[in-house]
Amino acid sequence: MKRSADTVRKWSEIILGQLGNPRVFALNVDEVDDVNALILDSGTVPGPTLRTLSEKAPEDIRSGVRTFVSLHPSGCGSGVRLPDSLPEHQVVLMLAEQLQEEVWESTGGEPVPACPGHQHPAKADSANEVPSWVCPRDGHVLRPILPAGTPE
Ligand SMILES: [Zn+2]
Repeated sequence: MKRSADTVRKWSEIILGQLGNPRVFALNVDEVDDVNALILDSGTVPGPTLRTLSEKAPEDIRSGVRTFVSLHPSGCGSGVRLPDSLPEHQVVLMLAEQLQEEVWESTGGEPVPACPGHQHPAKADSANEVPSWVCPRDGHVLRPILPAGTPE
């Protein structure tokens, strides 16, 4: 199934809200024919010339969505490659982990999202295939990452 950039953008915004709503300087979400294609610095989309440089077997070329987020005025940031072939719960987890890292990086390690009663942040994990925020110590499921009814 082809995953739309709009869907992934919406998920990113929901997750960033749960991570304390940091100031976002860039949030790029692109549907790409090959998530593993060569990427230049700061999320530049490779042109047709670059694409022909990556000679790969057709089965290695996987369509998907590629993200880039920056929480710095300088535009520094990082992204994640989300192949369409992965199930939704896995993609949401990858996105949550990446955005959490980026928030930690920009805040110097603020423990978000909070794990009630604990010093550590909650961890993105799968609870019966539902991507959730989970206590990394006792495995207690705090809440689903995407609220029920989030459109795909
Ligand atoms: Zn905890």
